[in-house]
Amino acid sequence: MPIKRLDTVVVNTGSQNDQHSVSVPPVYLSTTFKVDLNNEDAQNYDYSRSGNPTRSVLQHQIGKLYRVPQENVLAVSSGMTALDVILRGLVLLNGTDNHTPTIIAGDDLYGGTQRLLNFFKQQSHAVSVHVDTSDFEKFKTVFQSLDKVDCVLLESPTNPLCRVVDIPRILRFVKCISPDTTVVVDNTMMSGLNCNPLQLNPGCDVVYESATKYLNGHHDLMGGVIISKTPEIASKLYFVINSTGAGLSPMDSWLLVRGLKTLGVRLYQQQRNAMILAHWLENSCGFKPTRTNKATKTRFVGLRSNPDFKLHKSFNNGPGAVLSFETGSFEHSKRLVSSKKLSIWAVTVSFGCVNSLLSMPCKMSHASIDPELRKERDFPEDLVRLCCGIENIVDLKKDLLAAMVDADIIEVRENGKYLFNKLNKNLAVNTTIDDLHKPLSIYEEFYNQDLIRKDSELNIKSSKL
Ligand SMILES: *Cc1c(COP(=O)(O)O)cnc(C)c1O
Repeated sequence: MPIKRLDTVVVNTGSQNDQHSVSVPPVYLSTTFKVDLNNEDAQNYDYSRSGNPTRSVLQHQIGKLYRVPQENVLAVSSGMTALDVILRGLVLLNGTDNHTPTIIAGDDLYGGTQRLLNFFKQQSHAVSVHVDTSDFEKFKTVFQSLDKVDCVLLESPTNPLCRVVDIPRILRFVKCISPDTTVVVDNTMMSGLNCNPLQLNPGCDVVYESATKYLNGHHDLMGGVIISKTPEIASKLYFVINSTGAGLSPMDSWLLVRGLKTLGVRLYQQQRNAMILAHWLENSCGFKPTRTNKATKTRFVGLRSNPDFKLHKSFNNGPGAVLSFETGSFEHSKRLVSSKKLSIWAVTVSFGCVNSLLSMPCKMSHASIDPELRKERDFPEDLVRLCCGIENIVDLKKDLLAAMVDADIIEVRENGKYLFNKLNKNLAVNTTIDDLHKPLSIYEEFYNQDLIRKDSELNIKSSKL
């Protein structure tokens, strides 16, 4: 059978050996399953903490997304639970009287990850050393300065600074000099559709994703998935889940199976919106460094102006839909994010949802990080983060423009034909007006090819033959 594309396999749930030949697998809410003492080996389920048929369907689907057998996949109650289970099952137990498990992690981490690592540190269960993992030389120096590294935790691109971590290079380095170090990748920013760190050469040991984000895509459930390189790793993690009851509930598993079906189209539209917005912010709105003002900037891994554009493209299938920009002024950014003119962009944390979201990380998701530490890590206080949903791009731009005008950042000139950035004096043609707006294809921008045109060129050639 030919190997099918990932956006195809997540749509199909296959035949479930169901007595009624259902098209959609049912939700099994039952917590208990009857036991046949004469035939115990044939029994797959007895108690839902240990296993549930609806959770199994989900694990099967995620297995297809990462091209691993279902046994290697575990679904848990949130993305943070996924990391907790991984650290308990694979890292914390390395502790002895004279060794505290050591974790190297990035310094632009998801806030919740930082909090969990701090917790383990305070309890002396593990020490975490933070380094800018997007700087390979720095990472290498830190790694070599430590006696024993039990775990390397990577996240790429980082959020919200959109820095790219060279995961393939770090994996080659770590697996060469310290094969026993567990390399864990938080793949939430990309999802399995854009990146599969298990299939790199060498691959990582475990990947996890917050299913609350792209996988489900509707902000109506919390979940996490853990995908292991081998069944042996998965069984160590299963032990923790079975012991603690961290498995995803049947109803949420069912919703996630449904959400996952549209991952391909959702992510396509979200990435397309993100590509167009990033260009517009950089070019029409002037959020780019100028000769006199270096403080304005658009950050997105899909932009060619991003120094990591090529690196990101080398191991990912898409740019994701999270971007950020700096206005150069904390006060103006704050006015923008609190503008009453915003009617589509919701001021909310999180990302991956079908709705577009806007936030100011230093006041929201990163507010728990000490301002001094933010400064030390070069965290821009004026940063505005955009997480694109699936709405029409023309409306998204107009909504944001109205708020930027309201916040006194942009002045619209000549009936909307030109945009003047009041903060850095950039003047540019606007592309918000419908007839000027020629939609770009992310394939033209990201892959530098137009699939449709390529197909028609092939047709001309074949008709000549
Ligand atoms: C949201 C998120 C998490 C945590 O997931 P939850 O489902 O909210 O627990 C972990 N890592 C990243 C990168 C995230 O964005």
